[in-house]
Amino acid sequence: MLTLDEELCIGCGVCEQCCPFAAIEMKESLPAVGDGCTLCGTCVDNCSVDALSLDVERAVQGDLSAWSGVAVYCEYVRGELNPVSLELLGEARRLADSRGAEVFALLPGAGLDGVGDELIAHGADRVYLVDHPLLGDFREDLYGRVLVALLEKVTPEILLAGATAVGRSFVPAAAAAMHTGLTADCTSLAIRKSDGALEQTRPAFGGNIMATIVCENHRPQMCTVRPRVMKALAADSTRRGDITAFDAEHLVGGPLESRLEVLESVAGNASAVNIQEAEVLVGGGRGLESAAGFELLEELAGLLGGKISASRAVVDAGWIDYPHQVGQTGKTVAPKLYIACGISGAVQHVAGMQSAETIVAINRDENAPIFDIADYGIVGNIGDVLPRLIARVRELI
Ligand code: FAD
Repeated sequence: MLTLDEELCIGCGVCEQCCPFAAIEMKESLPAVGDGCTLCGTCVDNCSVDALSLDVERAVQGDLSAWSGVAVYCEYVRGELNPVSLELLGEARRLADSRGAEVFALLPGAGLDGVGDELIAHGADRVYLVDHPLLGDFREDLYGRVLVALLEKVTPEILLAGATAVGRSFVPAAAAAMHTGLTADCTSLAIRKSDGALEQTRPAFGGNIMATIVCENHRPQMCTVRPRVMKALAADSTRRGDITAFDAEHLVGGPLESRLEVLESVAGNASAVNIQEAEVLVGGGRGLESAAGFELLEELAGLLGGKISASRAVVDAGWIDYPHQVGQTGKTVAPKLYIACGISGAVQHVAGMQSAETIVAINRDENAPIFDIADYGIVGNIGDVLPRLIARVRELI
């Protein structure tokens, strides 16, 4: 609760000016706090006469030192290990090494033979697997129960999970069940030197600033990271580790029952538009001027053995489907070559493609921000430049 000591207040109005949520209004020389107050404490920190105080209950969850190690939720659904799990093991290895701690792979699924060895080869010290036929199809309630039970058993200090459709749908609920926080869509992670807390950095306020979030009083510190943001370690088949198999029902303390009945699983055509695996991406933006503009991009991408991607502006315009969208609210990609055609280079787009090895930008505006991050820039009209580029590529292949 935010409390005002009227005796101390000098009515200077600094609290009104500094409130990031415009939740304070000066009324008759005294601050009136509105519903927008988030108890962030900025006004308290800025009050030079200590007239404002914040009484926030900061419940610390028992003995935090009882939690150690960096765990990764490894996504193995319908017989496939999601590559993001290997990327997160690489990041977990780096974090754990700086803590002098171990890396745990938490692996629920069905038919898990051999998967544990792959996880060890990519950096895990210990694999905790839960192999049960009911975990073959993804069911949020079962996966949630199993993950919570694993976290209680393994007591890791940190849990990393992929910000995939599966990860996003049940990991936040597991965080709530553990009475801890979760930072979604982190772009970088680090260990704070002073106390070993996990610094979780992610874009905030529409991607205009990067916020670093710390979960100081609760464990595990949980976050999700999008595919292709972290780098997997090369597989090392000489690495050794332990694999522990838990009996699912014993682990969750009762029968493994779901409220969900899976009637049929239909594979989408995600692989056809899996832009995250492509080595070459030809991205189109509003500069294409219409959906038909993507035909030239398809041609160029086909010649280069790549795929087409898009900015949000053209996805919103209905010129192309959402799975092609690159950026903060689309996919993060890291191809060898990214050719941005008629894309201005808004921060939200750049956030999803700046890790490309080589960026080529084609734009008629020489001041377009995309040129700030491009390795090669072509100033010109898409309609003129692309046919010439396509003709030249044809000559070369
Ligand atoms: P524009 O900004 O309109 O740029 C078009 C460019 O094409 C211009 O630079 C222009 O000079 C050039 N051009 C025009 N005609 C031609 C021509 N004939 N030949 C050559 N060049 C030409 N955007 C994303 O892409 N991905 C996201 O995930 C994303 N998430 C967002 C999340 C939030 C919360 C918000 C607020 C925005 C998000 N955006 C995202 C939108 C983003 O801010 C931009 O609006 C969007 O990226 C712009 O798309 P664009 O570059 O295609 O279009």
